[in-house]
Amino acid sequence: MKVELISCSPKGEKNIEFGGRISHKSTDKMKKGSEKEFIKKLIKWGHLSVIEHSYATFYISGVSRVLTHQLVRHRIASYTQKSQRYVNENNFSYTIPDSIKQNDKYYNKYLKLMDTIRDFYKEMSNNEIPNEDARFILPNATHSEIVMTANLREWRHVLELRGSLKALWEIRKMVIDIYCILKSRFPSVFFDFNLKTKNGKQYIEKTT
Ligand SMILES: Cc1cc2nc3c(=O)[nH]c(=O)nc-3n(C[C@H](O)[C@H](O)[C@H](O)COP(=O)(O)OP(=O)(O)OC[C@H]3O[C@@H](n4cnc5c(N)ncnc54)[C@H](O)[C@@H]3O)c2cc1C
Repeated sequence: MKVELISCSPKGEKNIEFGGRISHKSTDKMKKGSEKEFIKKLIKWGHLSVIEHSYATFYISGVSRVLTHQLVRHRIASYTQKSQRYVNENNFSYTIPDSIKQNDKYYNKYLKLMDTIRDFYKEMSNNEIPNEDARFILPNATHSEIVMTANLREWRHVLELRGSLKALWEIRKMVIDIYCILKSRFPSVFFDFNLKTKNGKQYIEKTT
C-alpha cells in the first residue's frame, strides 16, 4: 500500500481563517499564527463549513478493490480509479489478509487460486476476450489505484469513520497514513484527532 499527497491548498489553514473571519468582518485580526486558535474554536462551535475552503488530493495504490469500493461510498469527494477495461490485468497483484497469511492450511491454497485466476485471465485476454470481459473473474483482492480529492471537512469525516476500530483493517491502515500527512500539514484542522493503539491495533480517535 502506498499513500502519496499529490497536492493540497497552499496556506490551507490561512484560507480557512480568512473564510471564517469574513463572517465577523475581522480579517484585520489576521496575523502570524492567529489561525491556530481560530480554527480550533470554529471546530468546537461546529462551524464546519468553513473548513471546506481547503482541500487535499491523495494518490493511493497497492490497495484492494475491497478498499476502493468502500472508499468511493464517501460522496463528498472526487475520484479517478485505474480502469480494468483500458488497463490489462495480466500481472495483477493482490492483497493477502494477515489471517490468511498466518494460516498454514489456507495460505498456499489462496496463492494457488490467485495463480489459477491469473493464468485463466491471461489465456482469455491473450486470445479473443477483451479486458472488459476477462476482468469478471478477478477477485476482490486485486490491487487498484485511485486518486481522491476532498475538502478538509470531508477528510475529517472519512478519518473519523474509517480510522475507527469498527472499520476494516485495510482502509484503517490507509487512513492512518493519510491522517499522519494531514495532521502535519494542517495541525489545527486535525487537532482533535489522535492516533491510539488497542490490543495491538492502531486506530484514530476523535476527541471533540
Ligand atoms: C464500519 C462501517 C461499516 C459499514 N457497513 C456498511 C454495510 O454493511 N453496507 C453498506 O451499504 N454500507 C456500509 N458502510 C458505508 C456507510 O453506510 C456509508 O455509505 C459510508 O460510510 C459513507 O458515509 P457517509 O454517507 O456518512 O459519508 P459521505 O458520503 O462522505 O458524506 C459525508 C456527509 O455528508 C452528508 N451527506 C452526504 N450525502 C447526503 C445525502 N444524500 N443526504 C443527506 N446528507 C448527505 C452526511 O452528513 C454525510 O455523513 C459502512 C461504513 C462503515 C464506516
